[in-house]
Amino acid sequence: MSVLIVGSTALDSIKTPRAENPRLLGGSASHAAVAASFFAPVRLVGIVGADFPQKYLQLYRRHKVDLEGLQIASGKTFHWSGEYEVNMNNRRTLATELGVFETFTPRLPASYQDTPFVLLANIAPSLQHHVLNQMRRPKFVVADTMDLWLNIALPDLLKLIRRVDCFVLNDSEARQLTQEDNLITALKKIHKLGPKYVIIKKGEHGAILSTRNGGLFLSPAYPLPRVVDPTGAGDSFVGGMVGHLSAARGSIDLNLRRAMIYGSVVASFCCEGFGLKFTDRVTRPAIEARFKQLAKLTKF
Ligand code: AMP
Repeated sequence: MSVLIVGSTALDSIKTPRAENPRLLGGSASHAAVAASFFAPVRLVGIVGADFPQKYLQLYRRHKVDLEGLQIASGKTFHWSGEYEVNMNNRRTLATELGVFETFTPRLPASYQDTPFVLLANIAPSLQHHVLNQMRRPKFVVADTMDLWLNIALPDLLKLIRRVDCFVLNDSEARQLTQEDNLITALKKIHKLGPKYVIIKKGEHGAILSTRNGGLFLSPAYPLPRVVDPTGAGDSFVGGMVGHLSAARGSIDLNLRRAMIYGSVVASFCCEGFGLKFTDRVTRPAIEARFKQLAKLTKF
C-alpha cells in the first residue's frame, strides 16, 4: 500500500566540527520519503522554489517518489541551516528561511486522497491539519513535530494530536509538552491527549513505543562507530517505520515493533553521510543485513 508524506522539502546547509555542506537536499518530507521508499510507493506533498536543483528532483525520482503533489513555485525553496557541536547531539539552528513555505497551501491531487497510510512529517500543524482534511478515511495516520510548534502553535498541535493514530516526538519535546521529567509518565499523559500509539525518539538511545493499553517496546538505535551528520535521522526513522507498516501484512499491533526496527536501521544509514547522500545509495539487502544484526544484538 502507498504512503502519503507531507512535510518540509528543503535545502539544508549543515555545519559539523569536521565539515560544512551548503544547500543539500533536506527537509522532513524528503528524508521520510526516501526512507519509506525502500518499502513502499511514496506520494510526496510539499513545495519547492524555482531554485530547487534538478538533481534533487532526480533523486526523488530514483526512489520512485510520486511528485504529483510537489508544487514548484516561483520564489525560494525553504532553507534551513544548522550547526552541530563536537558531540554531534547538540544542534543549533543558524537560520530558517521559509521562502515558498510562507504562502504554502497543500493541495492533494485526487489520486492521493485515498492513500491508506499518511505520515504528517514535521511542518506547521495547520498544514498537517490541512492535508488530513483532504484525506478520505485513511487507515493509519502518524504525525511528527518539533519544539518550534510546541512554542508557537500549541493549540493547533493539540488539536492535531487528537486526530492521529500515532504521535511521534523526541524526549525533550515530550518533557516540554507534558511538563513531566519521567518519560514513562509523559507517555501516559500524551495518550490522554488522544493517540493510541505514542513514540518518543531518543536519538542515539533509540525510541520507546507506548500503546494505550499499557504496552511498551524499547527500540534500539543501531550502534554506529562514527556519525557524520544526524540531520534527518528522526524523519528517516519515522519514514522507514511507516513505509514498512504499509507494506507488511497483518495488523498494526502485530507489525509496529518490527517497523520501528526498520526505522532505526534506515536512520542509521542517514547518519553516515551529509543530508541524504548516504541514504540515497542504500540497498534493500543492506537494510536487511542491519535489521538482522539489530535482532541479534537485542536477543537475550
Ligand atoms: P531532524 O534532524 O529529524 O530533526 O530533521 C531535520 C530536518 O528538519 C532538516 O532537513 C530541516 O530542513 C527540517 N526543518 C528544520 N526546521 C524546520 C521547520 N521549522 N519546519 C519544517 N522542517 C524543518
